[in-house]
Amino acid sequence: MTETKRLKIGDGVISGYLSVFLAIVALGAVICAYFPEYLTTADFRALYNPKFLKSVVLGCLTVSFIFALVSFVLSKKTLLSFMSTLVIAATILLATWLPEGTEIESKAVTIGMDWLLLDILISAIIFIPIELFLPKRKEQSKFHPEWRTDLFYFVVSHLLIQVTGVLVQLPSELLFANIGLSAFQDGIKALPFIVQLFLALFVSDLFQFSAHYMFHKIPFLWRFHAVHHSTKHLDWLAGSRTHFVDLITVRAVSFLPIYIFGFSMTVFSTYIIIVSIQAVLAHSNTRINFGVFKYIFVTPQYHHWHHSDDPKAYDKNFCIHFPFIDMIFGTYYPMKEEWPEATGLGKEKFPKGFVKQFIFPFLKNPSNENQLEDPSER
Ligand SMILES: [Zn+2]
Ligand SMILES: [Zn+2]
Repeated sequence: MTETKRLKIGDGVISGYLSVFLAIVALGAVICAYFPEYLTTADFRALYNPKFLKSVVLGCLTVSFIFALVSFVLSKKTLLSFMSTLVIAATILLATWLPEGTEIESKAVTIGMDWLLLDILISAIIFIPIELFLPKRKEQSKFHPEWRTDLFYFVVSHLLIQVTGVLVQLPSELLFANIGLSAFQDGIKALPFIVQLFLALFVSDLFQFSAHYMFHKIPFLWRFHAVHHSTKHLDWLAGSRTHFVDLITVRAVSFLPIYIFGFSMTVFSTYIIIVSIQAVLAHSNTRINFGVFKYIFVTPQYHHWHHSDDPKAYDKNFCIHFPFIDMIFGTYYPMKEEWPEATGLGKEKFPKGFVKQFIFPFLKNPSNENQLEDPSER
């Protein structure tokens, strides 16, 4: 497949896409308001302030309209501006017909559309400017051949947040719910915030390290994790490309110590925010590197080396928070200023698209040309 051209600032295309994106987010938010019992996450509902939400939707529509105008003026093309104007009009129309707030029924199964819209909006606000103004691979287009697959992973994993949440917590609850940890957990909660936060990040990263290591070293597990490593274009969406077996298992293992330690709610929420931001940042196409702090915190350069297709960097840099854990276990890649030439699975053929990648690891030998059978040869 041919590479798409990198978008240039000033030709009106970026503003056009941003305009369409914001209009779709606003439309999605209004659709959520029509079916809140199905499309919003039960745990989040209590946090929603209707006035604030209305301002967010209005803000998205206004900025979308401004971007549509900018795009039209700069590009002299009407397609993107026309598309966003249509979506803006549909959103306003739907919003005016919205019935006044009634009691929301609790349904057993919900779809996390609210989580999807919220996270994609926040991630786009943080990471699109970072990749636009501080890129690592300047030549890499936002619309590279793999972006649709990665976006699909992002959408599906967010919509299924209820299912994944239950599955991730299940092993902890089954193993540790009835073993009387409350005295120990009260002791942990009494620790200062910063100590608890460091402990949360450190112990979960230690557990994550072991699970991640297994997914690299055990051939059957590597098939699932290879999906994550198959992308040749790392960016803020690429980290979402993770097979469900990989995602649930590694998160469930990382959650075990968090459950046992029973950190305070503030620590747990801060931990979740840090995990979410650091995981996306680590995959982003940006040269931001935190100076000497790169030896303490995981950076894009560190995680890009984990994805390198150069054999000298295979099975290195497993952590998601603290690189020094890799240093302790001898799996740190001794990088200086250099970045990997390329990422992915080298010359190995790998199925493209969400469905094929979902099925692939369950099949015994999907391709004879594929050398994924024995990761020790990688
Ligand atoms: Zn890996
Ligand atoms: Zn990764």
